[in-house]
Amino acid sequence: MAAYGGSDFYCDVALPDPTALRLVHDDDRVLAFHHTRPFWDVHVVVIPKRHISSLTTVTAEDEADVRALLAVVQAVARDVEREHGAAAVLTNLGTYQDSKHLHVHVHSGPERTTP
Ligand SMILES: [Zn+2]
Repeated sequence: MAAYGGSDFYCDVALPDPTALRLVHDDDRVLAFHHTRPFWDVHVVVIPKRHISSLTTVTAEDEADVRALLAVVQAVARDVEREHGAAAVLTNLGTYQDSKHLHVHVHSGPERTTP
């Protein structure tokens, strides 16, 4: 996949053409897939399909999407934990967040030095 220099990889690249991704989960509200440039040996990203900027912008109007997102995060984390014995769940905020669309990383294994 070509390098992407914008600020919302998910709305701009991932959601318009999910066939390019290694999908883990796909329903009306939520998409989960293996990161295109993984930072860890196991690295799944879970996103709401409807644009939400970040965890700290979530409001009551986003409740259905966030509930659906968390259910998928839980299922993916459970699978990774079961298969690899350990998992971590992470969402970045502010300047840590490269793509300004809420996304949750589920990862396991050593951090990769080269993507
Ligand atoms: Zn977006």
